[in-house]
Amino acid sequence: MEIKKIGVLGAGTMGNGIAQVASQAGYQVVMRDIEDRFVENGLNAIAKFLTKSVEKGKMTEEQKQEVLSRIKGTTRMEDLKDVDFVIEAVFEDLELKKSLFKTLDEMTAPHVVLTTNTSSMSITEIAMATKRPSQVAGMHFFNPAPLMRLVEVIRGYHTSDETTRLVMDLSRKMGKEPVEVKKDTPGFIVNRLMIPHFIEAIRMVEEGIASCEDIDKAVKLGLNYPMGPFELMDLTGVDIALHVTEYLYKELNKENKWSAPPLLKSMIRAGKLGRKTKGGWYQY
Ligand code: NAD
Repeated sequence: MEIKKIGVLGAGTMGNGIAQVASQAGYQVVMRDIEDRFVENGLNAIAKFLTKSVEKGKMTEEQKQEVLSRIKGTTRMEDLKDVDFVIEAVFEDLELKKSLFKTLDEMTAPHVVLTTNTSSMSITEIAMATKRPSQVAGMHFFNPAPLMRLVEVIRGYHTSDETTRLVMDLSRKMGKEPVEVKKDTPGFIVNRLMIPHFIEAIRMVEEGIASCEDIDKAVKLGLNYPMGPFELMDLTGVDIALHVTEYLYKELNKENKWSAPPLLKSMIRAGKLGRKTKGGWYQY
């Protein structure tokens, strides 16, 4: 069954980015949020991004209008009843996601594949809220979705080969590079690698081995990473780093290697959250 229309749940940071990516790839998009103001914010964020692209000469005004015209913003769940594929990007709340998947299962055509952009929740658990768990998968985009090329495609316990192939193909058609995560595992690939390198970097600072700046410099020049761990935490939020660390600690059998360094907690208590500034670790 050819995919023509994609339903996106959530018009927040990830939802509007994903809706934009889907529309730019030529798909009709229905982007649903719970209140008009959230839908408006999402549509405005897309328009703003596209306007910058026009200013930079990356697209014409006409192309921008075409992309916008393919995205319908709505608060009505019924508007998703004739979509061919769904990407869910609502708050990271398991019960909310499960209840939405149950509704989607009841209202969309039986062949439709339902995916979630969750960063951490179990795909299997979300899939079990439906009667089609073999047609549910993780489709994990990265922020900002229009710019980041990776999509992790995660198999739940019941996800079929056909569903996995379809999500991998769609990711490519959306201009992304998919990787398959063969098992429903906490942190998938990227967070599972990223968090231990954050933890070790913070422990080195705690032990007085090197400064944040020098660790970042060493990683950038020695490993050829574009950003060091402290810069990356400052960009995405120090509190998010703690949240993901604590989640992995809980899910991966509370092994000490996943336990959050005390310094990470005290950074948050001190209000040094980073978030797109050098106001976190770089002021440590
Ligand atoms: P966000 O808070 O920016 O947006 C979430 C949106 O979902 C809000 O606008 C909210 O009103 C809406 N929403 C809540 N209930 C809804 C419902 N029933 N129907 C439709 N919309 C509803 O959050 P976000 O950062 O975009 O994260 C969304 C998902 O993507 C989460 O699962 C998160 O873990 C995941 N994710 C986030 C990032 C990131 O860096 N922000 C990266 C990858 C994955």
